[in-house]
Amino acid sequence: MTPTAFMPPLGRAPHAPSWYAATAGALPSHAPLKGARRADVCVIGGGYTGLSAALTLAKAGYDVVVLEANKVGWGASGRNGGQIHTGQRRDPDWLAGRLGEPAARRLLALADEAWHFQRALIRDHAMEVDLADGLIHGIHKPRWVEDARREADHLTTKWGLGPIRFLDKAETAEKLGTEVYHAGTLDPKSGHLHPLKFALGIARAAAAAGATIFEDSRALSVRHGAKVEVTTPDGVVTADTLVLAGNGYLGGLDPETDARVMPLNNFILATAPLPEDLIPGNEAASDTRFVVYYWRQTPDRRLLFGGGETFTPKFPKDIRRFVTRHMTAIYPRLKAVPIDYGWGGTLGLTVNRLPYVRRPKPNVWVAAGYSGQGVMLAPFAGHILAEAIRGQTERFDAFADIPCPPFPGGTLMRWPTLVAAMSWFALRDRI
Ligand SMILES: Cc1cc2nc3c(=O)[nH]c(=O)nc-3n(C[C@H](O)[C@H](O)[C@H](O)COP(=O)(O)OP(=O)(O)OC[C@H]3O[C@@H](n4cnc5c(N)ncnc54)[C@H](O)[C@@H]3O)c2cc1C
Repeated sequence: MTPTAFMPPLGRAPHAPSWYAATAGALPSHAPLKGARRADVCVIGGGYTGLSAALTLAKAGYDVVVLEANKVGWGASGRNGGQIHTGQRRDPDWLAGRLGEPAARRLLALADEAWHFQRALIRDHAMEVDLADGLIHGIHKPRWVEDARREADHLTTKWGLGPIRFLDKAETAEKLGTEVYHAGTLDPKSGHLHPLKFALGIARAAAAAGATIFEDSRALSVRHGAKVEVTTPDGVVTADTLVLAGNGYLGGLDPETDARVMPLNNFILATAPLPEDLIPGNEAASDTRFVVYYWRQTPDRRLLFGGGETFTPKFPKDIRRFVTRHMTAIYPRLKAVPIDYGWGGTLGLTVNRLPYVRRPKPNVWVAAGYSGQGVMLAPFAGHILAEAIRGQTERFDAFADIPCPPFPGGTLMRWPTLVAAMSWFALRDRI
């Protein structure tokens, strides 16, 4: 395996120092794999994708082993903004233009299934994940206001999303507690949750259904054949089937996935509890910037604000200060508020911003690259992989049929290429 800049060296790392880790309650502890273990299915990665695949398979009677390099929910699933976005990451007209209207409608229907799947997961397993409804999208350029008004109507009437409601400047300001946006749209079906509690909830359900989870057990190498043999620092799993669910952290185990799923870092802060409700309706918020800002209040009335990508493999030295610059552009009055938490994480990006769902070998399955929309899509994608392993491939095929080109430049040159492209779009945000 060729190490990449993104590989956590050996695994065995604790959770990121996030508000989530501080408020998730007692964190579970699963022993590392020691010695040889047989399984029907070996899942690499203990985030939403891997845990959900494990849950569906274990419920169907499969003997499933999950190998997690660090802790359950240690990756993007335990650190993200917690924002639930309906639809796909690309808008329906983009999908229809590239893939045709029937495929666009099929992908929207799958996104709707993903929404229902997530609700059912939370309800059926009595997860307490601070679920809240509603997401407001702030329009940051005056010349986009009329487009946003038309788009809200078009997405609702033509594509059946939402119903998405246009908000004028005054209503946007009232709902978001800031005057910086020229208008907004409100999607009542989107929303937010506590992402780490959600990951731990799926892990608990999977374990209760019979899956065995090993933490601190990085998969170091995979030997392919009629069976797969996965080696960790202290053990080896021999399985009929392998699920690759390492997303932005997977680097090095499957060259096809590495070429198509690019790791990208993003950063979040949580302020000290605030004296006022900035968002009285408790919606999530994001905006029209290319390098998007996203935020919401926590139940203990902190502002949890995400924004600012770095186009290098490294995290900034001072994440709190790095994100504060972005937060105070939206909430100048929070300049003096103490910042209690700051953390970063790595997500998986694809060229077309649609999930990469594939079967690279007859007994190997992968889902990754949700491009910032995995809170809703990743658990469903894991479930779809599990369904396909059980022989029901219809939904798997709908995703696997989407063309997903590799990033130009291969794994070495794609960074400079992406940096150039992203810097240009980030510059466009400011002009
Ligand atoms: C800062 C940030 C903010 C985000 N905000 C949002 C948001 O608001 N809304 C949204 O929809 N999406 C958001 N995302 C994206 C979302 O979090 C992801 O799409 C989703 O969590 C992906 O889940 P996953 O299970 O595929 O991957 P992950 O949760 O990253 O899990 C992969 C796991 O695999 C493990 N792993 C990797 N390689 C190995 C190996 N060789 N052996 C063993 N284990 C391995 C890792 O340790 C990791 O725990 C955000 C991401 C980040 C980083």
